[in-house]
Amino acid sequence: MPDQTCACPHCKCVLGVDAVMKDGKGYCCEGCAQHHAHGEPCAAQANCECAKSARG
Ligand SMILES: [Zn+2]
Ligand SMILES: [Zn+2]
Ligand SMILES: [Zn+2]
Repeated sequence: MPDQTCACPHCKCVLGVDAVMKDGKGYCCEGCAQHHAHGEPCAAQANCECAKSARG
């Protein structure tokens, strides 16, 4: 089974045990699954900047 990366546009985190499935896509964390609607940081990697990118 190949590694699957998060469906969040700017996130390159690999889906792990905490992966969230939504709309047929896999997200690395709840924050990504919610498209960082509330500014949640990426929970998979502390230095992942996908949350910032999502907010422009
Ligand atoms: Zn990430
Ligand atoms: Zn992610
Ligand atoms: Zn994200």
